[in-house]
Amino acid sequence: MPTTHSTRMLILGSGPAGLSAAIYGARAGMKPIVVQGIQPGGQLMTTTDVENYPGFRDVIQGPWLMEEMQAQAEHVGARMMWDTIVSLDLSQRPFRMIGDGGDVYEGEVLVLATGAQAKWLGLSSEDALKGKGVSACATCDGFFYRGKKVVVIGGGNTAVEEALYMTNHSDDVTLIHRRDTLRAERILQDRLHANPKITVLWNKRIDKFVGEGDPVGLTALDLVDTVTGEATRFDTDGAFVAIGHHPATEILKGHVALDGDGYVTVDTGSTRTSVPGVFACGDVMDKIYRQAVTAAGTGCMAALDAERFLAEAEFEREMAEAI
Ligand SMILES: Cc1cc2nc3c(=O)[nH]c(=O)nc-3n(C[C@H](O)[C@H](O)[C@H](O)COP(=O)(O)OP(=O)(O)OC[C@H]3O[C@@H](n4cnc5c(N)ncnc54)[C@H](O)[C@@H]3O)c2cc1C
Repeated sequence: MPTTHSTRMLILGSGPAGLSAAIYGARAGMKPIVVQGIQPGGQLMTTTDVENYPGFRDVIQGPWLMEEMQAQAEHVGARMMWDTIVSLDLSQRPFRMIGDGGDVYEGEVLVLATGAQAKWLGLSSEDALKGKGVSACATCDGFFYRGKKVVVIGGGNTAVEEALYMTNHSDDVTLIHRRDTLRAERILQDRLHANPKITVLWNKRIDKFVGEGDPVGLTALDLVDTVTGEATRFDTDGAFVAIGHHPATEILKGHVALDGDGYVTVDTGSTRTSVPGVFACGDVMDKIYRQAVTAAGTGCMAALDAERFLAEAEFEREMAEAI
C-alpha cells in the first residue's frame, strides 16, 4: 500500500552532497527525508582508496566514508528512504515526488543531489580492471601513479585537462584519441602540445584493457588503428578514461532549468535553482570540480539556503496572517 511521507525538507540523493545537506538540515530542525536512489552512498561506494577527503591522515575506503556520513546524518535526525524517484511535481509547494513503488514524498523545500556518472568505454575488460589500474578521475586517483607510465583516453576538454594534471605525477603521459584532431579548446591543446611530458597517439581505439598478476592490475592496452586496422599492444601502469560525464537529471527535465550539457543551473555563488524552494548541490550542478569535498561543501550550502528560504517564507506567511 503506497504511503505518503511529508516533511519540511526533502533531499534527493545520498552521496556526499545529499548527506551533508541532511546533516545541516537535521541540525536546523528541518527533519530531512533523504531518498537514497539505486546507489545509496553515491559514487564513492564504487571506489576503494580515498586520500584527499580532509580529516583523515591515513588512506580511507570510500564505502566506509559514506557509511560514516550516513550514520552521522541519521544520528542527528535525518531519515533515509531506500527508494528511487521516478517522477516529480515542482509546480507548487509542497513539492511532490513519486517513488518507483508508488510512495509519495512531500516537502516544503527540495534539495537535488542526484550526482553524475562518468562515461566509460563499455568494454568488459574495462569493467574488470576498474580500480585496478583503470580510473575515470585523475584528480581522485592520479596520486597513486606517481612516477609511473600512464595513459589518458579521450579527445575533449576533460581528457586534455586530465593529461595535463597527470604531468604533476608522471613524466610519461600518453593521450590516446580515436581521431586525428582534438575537440578540446584551442588554449588547452596549445598547453598539451607544449608539454614535453605528454605524447599523443592519434587514430587509436581501445580494443582491450590487459591485466596481469595476482592481485590483477592493468599492464597494457590492446589498441587498433582506426585508419589502418593495425593491432598493437601498449604497455602502461594506469589508464584514465576521460570521455565525459552524464549528470543524473533525466527526471528533472522540464521541471527545473538545465544547461546545455544537462546540469542543473544555479544562481552564481548559491545553490538556488530556477524554482524557488528547490536547491541543487554536488556533481549534478558542478561540472568543474566533481570531488567529494566540493559535493559536501555545496550540500552544506544547499541546507543553509533552504533554511533561509523557509524562514523567509514562514515570516511572510505570519505577516500576511497578522494583517
Ligand atoms: C571511482 C571513483 C572514485 C572517486 N574517487 C574520489 C576521491 O578519491 N576523492 C574525491 O573527492 N572524489 C572522488 N570521486 C568523485 C566523488 O565520488 C564525487 O564527486 C561525489 O560522489 C559527488 O557526490 P554527489 O553527492 O554530488 O553525487 P553522487 O555521489 O553521484 O550521489 C548521487 C546520489 O543520487 C542518487 N540518485 C540519483 N538519481 C536518483 C533518483 N532518481 N532517485 C533517488 N536517488 C537518486 C544516487 O542513488 C546517489 O545516492 C570518485 C568518483 C568515482 C566514480
